[in-house]
Amino acid sequence: MNNFLGIDIGGTNTAFGIVSEEGEMLYSGNVSTKDFSTIDSLAEAIKKHLESNTKESYDSVGIGAPSVSRSSGCIEFAPNLDWGDIVPLKGSFEKVFGEGVIVINDANAAALGEKHFGDAGELKNFSVITLGTGVGLGTVIDGKLMEGTNGLAGELGHLVIRRAGRECNCGNLGCLETYAGAAGIALTAKEKLEFSSGGSALMSLPPSDLTPLEIFNAARKDDPVSLEVIDSVCHDLGYALSSLINLFDIEHIYITGGIANSGNILRRKIEKHLKSYVLPNLRTKISLKISTLNQTGAGILGAVAAIKEYSKEAVS
Ligand SMILES: [Zn+2]
Repeated sequence: MNNFLGIDIGGTNTAFGIVSEEGEMLYSGNVSTKDFSTIDSLAEAIKKHLESNTKESYDSVGIGAPSVSRSSGCIEFAPNLDWGDIVPLKGSFEKVFGEGVIVINDANAAALGEKHFGDAGELKNFSVITLGTGVGLGTVIDGKLMEGTNGLAGELGHLVIRRAGRECNCGNLGCLETYAGAAGIALTAKEKLEFSSGGSALMSLPPSDLTPLEIFNAARKDDPVSLEVIDSVCHDLGYALSSLINLFDIEHIYITGGIANSGNILRRKIEKHLKSYVLPNLRTKISLKISTLNQTGAGILGAVAAIKEYSKEAVS
């Protein structure tokens, strides 16, 4: 029986877990990504953490991270990581964990996770949108993960939704991520609070506590500024996703990532705006759901799913 080590490197946190063949999480841990000044030190810290905290063994290693090129094995120009332009992800982890490490773009990992362990199963056409520090997208079309030439397909976060809009870490202006990523949501809240006449629960929070979680919590209690912020974010997400549906006739979309924990209010509002932009003949067929894997380490399971998908290829 094989066990797998899945690692999910995010802009804020890096989660990792040892997972059984059936997708059962046997052990999981996490570290703060920003505590590590190099990718090598992160790899070594994960190895040490596992050695000191669990006796579970694993046979192979899969890693999901932002902006991973599968062809080079490197993280390339990731806007939310501080390790330089080209980060040798596969090479660094193979120095610590041995040959055969599988690396994949994190949003593509999420799509494979949904296919192997989630609800997508045998669906031929579906997408997974990841909402957290950044915004990513993994898409399966005609049963196959859409990777593009470099394995970087699906950078939905860098779809320009406003001309001359906010400055993005990627160097462009008006990217979706600058409005719908965690920092973008907080910035929208700050902007709206400046023009608010008072009465918002968000006003009592110190600026550093103005997180998407707090904003969604306040929106659920009908806080007017929070509701405006959430509506604006969900409008932008719906607008971006409508292009995906109109272009590729994707029927099923799963939402995952830290912000997906905001649940039904997020899903309902995105769906409302999405439907207003989607072609009439596709409008009634859309299924937008919060991924059921979200509470159980979707990123880790995605990295493990990539091992299942690609390990044969790596051996050949
Ligand atoms: Zn961008």
